[in-house]
Amino acid sequence: MAALTLAGLLNGVPPVGAVSATAGPATAGPAGSQGPVVALRGRSSLVLSHPEHAAAAAGLIHEVDDAVTAVTAAWGTDWAQSVVVVIPGSQQEMSALIGDGLVLDRIAAVATAASSQAGQRVVVNPDNLDELGPEVRRVVIRHEIAHLAARGVTSPDTPAWLVEGFADYVGYLDSGIPIRSAAGDLARAVQRDDMPGDLPDAASFHGSSPRLGQAYQEGWLACLLIAERVGPAGLLRFYRVAAAGPLALEAALEDVLGTTYRQFVEDWRAYVVQQLG
Ligand SMILES: [Zn+2]
Repeated sequence: MAALTLAGLLNGVPPVGAVSATAGPATAGPAGSQGPVVALRGRSSLVLSHPEHAAAAAGLIHEVDDAVTAVTAAWGTDWAQSVVVVIPGSQQEMSALIGDGLVLDRIAAVATAASSQAGQRVVVNPDNLDELGPEVRRVVIRHEIAHLAARGVTSPDTPAWLVEGFADYVGYLDSGIPIRSAAGDLARAVQRDDMPGDLPDAASFHGSSPRLGQAYQEGWLACLLIAERVGPAGLLRFYRVAAAGPLALEAALEDVLGTTYRQFVEDWRAYVVQQLG
């Protein structure tokens, strides 16, 4: 599960997200039963669409290829390093492909994976694709592909704020987008003196959550803080340790950051105010 809200950049466009389902149907293509399929192959990508979206698919190829390179630079080489991107013909077809009843209106794209790396793909929301500017689309694609790269070490016990925050961390790397504009919801909360008391829980990341955008931004800033403390390699180490199981977060906090959960939350709250206050 995941989303990525870029309200500060969208100027009236509904918030968009990027959700990663933990499991999707392993064999579904772009729903071939719902019309002819156009397949375009890039250096590290295969983009599948229907003819009406062929132009959009062609426009995505370089974006996806560049994203694969960027994600590999950030994560390392221990993942497939190639991605299938599917552009369904409609949100209904997207729902059929993803198959887990997500609320898609605010979602830009979803990363799905079968249990093996072979089924990894990104499903783009056709209704929101056209509304994304190039800057936002770049972040969304990288966010989703970061999920695919990290999938091999991510478990259902991995905290959602870390899963999504890390994907946003990779998504925004070298984007040049200021934190304050990308984290507009959280910035407004700080200005209202309405700081969250804790890191966001899993429910905050559901597509219907009223605080979806802010939750992503909170996770992102937590990962920025970790990277600031121990560097990008330290953040990777943190992710790998914390992703392992139910008690792994505490281990990562102690081993990688030398801190406790409670202290980390306090440091994160101070960091949010420092960045956005
Ligand atoms: Zn995500």
